[in-house]
Amino acid sequence: MADKIIKFLKKLRIGRSLKFRLFIIICLMGIIPSIIIRAGILENYEDRAVEVRTSDVQTQLKIIANHLITYNYLQDNSSEVIGAELEQLSNLYNGRMLIINSNLRVVKDTYGISEGKTIISEEVIRCMKGVNTVNYDEVNGFIEITIPIIETISAKMAAEDMPEGTEVVRGVMLTSVSTDSIAMTLEILNRKALIIEYIMIFCILAIALLLAQVLIRPFGRVSKSISEIKEGYTDDPISVPDYLETEHIVDAFNGLLKRMKTLDDSRQEFVANVSHELKTPITSVKVLAESLLAQQDVPAELYQEFMKDIAEEIEREDKIINDLLAIVKLDKSVAELNISAVDINELTEIILKRLRPIARKNNVEVLLVSKREVVAEVDEVKMSLILTNLVENAIKYNREQGTVEVTLDADHQFFTIQVSDTGIGIPQECLEQIYERFYRVDKSHSREIGGTGLGLAITRNAVLLHRGSIKVDSKEGEGTTFVVKIPLTRGLTQTKS
Ligand code: ADP
Repeated sequence: MADKIIKFLKKLRIGRSLKFRLFIIICLMGIIPSIIIRAGILENYEDRAVEVRTSDVQTQLKIIANHLITYNYLQDNSSEVIGAELEQLSNLYNGRMLIINSNLRVVKDTYGISEGKTIISEEVIRCMKGVNTVNYDEVNGFIEITIPIIETISAKMAAEDMPEGTEVVRGVMLTSVSTDSIAMTLEILNRKALIIEYIMIFCILAIALLLAQVLIRPFGRVSKSISEIKEGYTDDPISVPDYLETEHIVDAFNGLLKRMKTLDDSRQEFVANVSHELKTPITSVKVLAESLLAQQDVPAELYQEFMKDIAEEIEREDKIINDLLAIVKLDKSVAELNISAVDINELTEIILKRLRPIARKNNVEVLLVSKREVVAEVDEVKMSLILTNLVENAIKYNREQGTVEVTLDADHQFFTIQVSDTGIGIPQECLEQIYERFYRVDKSHSREIGGTGLGLAITRNAVLLHRGSIKVDSKEGEGTTFVVKIPLTRGLTQTKS
């Protein structure tokens, strides 16, 4: 049953409300004890009242029992004194008294019904053996008490088998006293207690409602603040320090907000950079074309020179677009990695062969040092991007007669590609930023040699997709060394650099 109620409450939206649950808990904590206290007090009163009534009656009966012996009432029940005493007692307690002799015959019945009859009941027989008995019949509302009528043998009556002072049970007094007056008092008490209880329940309900409302208020403040941010009224971090719990929720939310702001800022910066980078070649093309159009009788050589410049700018635009496409592709999920076992030595040789003509043009020597045969589970296309970008940079940012050295090595878990050059180097303060999109140390120099500022961003993304790391060490005017470390198999993970 309780299970069903809980299931029903869970289905109802209100059952999932913390305010409702608090209200119920406070109500139960107030109402249940008040019901228990009322029931306990009444029960205790009833027990105590029955006990007092029993003890009063027993005392009176003991006195009468002595009188019965004195007046020899068991043999001759004509004594008016005893008769009056019995009458008075039965009237006082609204009860019935039976005096039974040792033959179990009723000598006196205050109701006058059972005189002369024999009574065989367990209580009477036990009492004949000298045991007092008390039975409280709660249902019919009476207490049944038996008291033995005891005679102490005097010196005159003493015999050999019954010395002086022996106590002999001569009969039993069987008494029923009504507990109507106790029941009536109990009824009155119960009624008063119920009134107090109803007032208490009403107060508890009011307090529970108020407390539930007040205790839940900070959570309301949290959702109000979040809504304000959602609707765009404010961007400031929120603060609801009322409870530790609200503080934790708010801290987590502020963390999320900060992250979203950073993402939004970098997205905006990226869009601004992309627009700027794409606009520059177009502006150059426009200027070149317009200056040609503005002149009349332009010599063919000038046309050729301007058209060469225009073609260069278009090629640059094409490179930027290709790099952007590569970056967008790399930003997608890891699932897009096309993993296969790749011979890294062979792949490096192919790439170096492809890049040697550029190196030769720049008078740079490219060397490959293979310390080990490396076969790794990687995406071949992305691995080519990594190698090409690093070696291309090492050639581009080198000096005349410089060298580029590519070293391949591996241990049992990772393989490393080290690309060292003898070029211009990167200033220490710029090392942090070189992986940012469109970042270039020297913008005009980089542009001159055809850089887009996207190469290292693409490289780093590709390395991280392979769960690898990339590190750089550089000295201005002396050269730069990039070290890429990638797990040999897909099961291994390398921390981010
Ligand atoms: P870019 O297309 O301009 O080369 P990258 O993202 O590849 O863009 O590199 C970012 C910047 O880092 C470059 O503009 C350059 O200033 C610097 N850089 C990268 N590699 C080297 C290197 N080997 N030697 C010196 N500077 C380098």
